[in-house]
Amino acid sequence: MELSAEVRLLCDEVRRFIREEVDPRSRWIEENDAMPEDLLRKAREIGLFGLTVPQEYGGSGLDLAGKCAIEEEMGKTNYGFATVIGNHTGISTAGIVALGDDRQKRKFLPRMATGEWIGSFALTEPQAGSDPAALRTTAVKKGDRYVLNGEKIYITNAGLAHVFTVMAVTDKAQGVKGISAFIVERDFPGFSVGRNELKMGMHGCSTAPLAFNDCEVPAENLLGPEGMGYVQALKTLTAGRVTVSARCCGMMDKLIAQCVDYMKVRTQGGRKLAEYQGLQWMLADMSVARDAARLLTGRAIDALMRGERGTMEASTAKLFSTEALAKVVDCAVQIHGGMGYMREAGIETVYRDSRIVRIYEGTSEIQRNIIAGLLLKDD
Ligand SMILES: Cc1cc2nc3c(=O)[nH]c(=O)nc-3n(C[C@H](O)[C@H](O)[C@H](O)COP(=O)(O)OP(=O)(O)OC[C@H]3O[C@@H](n4cnc5c(N)ncnc54)[C@H](O)[C@@H]3O)c2cc1C
Repeated sequence: MELSAEVRLLCDEVRRFIREEVDPRSRWIEENDAMPEDLLRKAREIGLFGLTVPQEYGGSGLDLAGKCAIEEEMGKTNYGFATVIGNHTGISTAGIVALGDDRQKRKFLPRMATGEWIGSFALTEPQAGSDPAALRTTAVKKGDRYVLNGEKIYITNAGLAHVFTVMAVTDKAQGVKGISAFIVERDFPGFSVGRNELKMGMHGCSTAPLAFNDCEVPAENLLGPEGMGYVQALKTLTAGRVTVSARCCGMMDKLIAQCVDYMKVRTQGGRKLAEYQGLQWMLADMSVARDAARLLTGRAIDALMRGERGTMEASTAKLFSTEALAKVVDCAVQIHGGMGYMREAGIETVYRDSRIVRIYEGTSEIQRNIIAGLLLKDD
């Protein structure tokens, strides 16, 4: 895909930042399961939090193609850091950009662009994961406010965020058309963020539950019309799936490059690993999987950028890229032998980190349901 000169420059800047600032802290982030404040400060300084905020509100105004180009770069560094930025600039900003009124945009976007306020997107609940229509968090209008009650789980960036896009039921009788989106600020009375979960991977990026106990949200923080929350969440997640797919391509790029380097230096049985056909073929299959994932991601980006729904393209790209990454990372461990199992090589971290992409933003099974549902739909 042809990128603008501006996006190419931004990608260069992100590559430099990763090399000089993120990669040297990656081991610390991994071992401490925390994000260094000075790294976040530097990320703010170079404008990483504002990538997708429109320029009139202080951001870089990247479109989906630009955002995906950055995600590919981010896929080559610490996954927790990539997720803090990716979630903020993706699903956590998208709703306000798409549905926010003038006042909401002026209030939230400039501070989200600088990273002073970090965003978070809260849909999932204990009984509503793959089936978000089963939401139970309620929002009842009382005068000029809504009163929210309920809980959310597994919310990315929760520990760091100030601005939460929260889905809640405003009219149960209307089913999914009775779900609305709200902007909840961290200091609203009745709102609290629970303890960070201990996770398999994605270290350094907070994932925590949220609780709403008679949480009062001013009516002016309703995002879009009442009942539009679910529709907007689906749109946000469709684009989100494409960005996940793009990040997987970056992760595969890095793994393949690591394998090429290793195969050229490691000698066994008097020959370089690069001379063993079994490993060559493994490497070839990794490359084919990565290229196919990139093509499907590009197709999905094109569809969404043309203004189409892009549901089929986004789900196909996410399903294929996330499953391709699983195979590629497994082969990368295998090619490195015992070294692949050691922390030192960094591949075991990617092995754990990459497991999440088949679960969040819609599991692989849900992507298959969407694809089959569209194929079998009566015209
Ligand atoms: C680290 C992490 C970060 C996350 N971040 C966020 C966030 O920022 N915001 C947010 O709102 N959510 C977030 N989530 C939640 C995530 O989107 C859900 O975990 C995911 O949608 C799956 O829901 P679930 O965990 O309830 O699993 P379940 O829905 O209980 O699924 C369990 C299994 O059943 C399968 N299954 C369920 N329904 C069907 C079906 N109809 N057909 C076939 N198979 C089915 C699933 O594919 C899965 O294999 C995060 C999750 C994790 C782990």
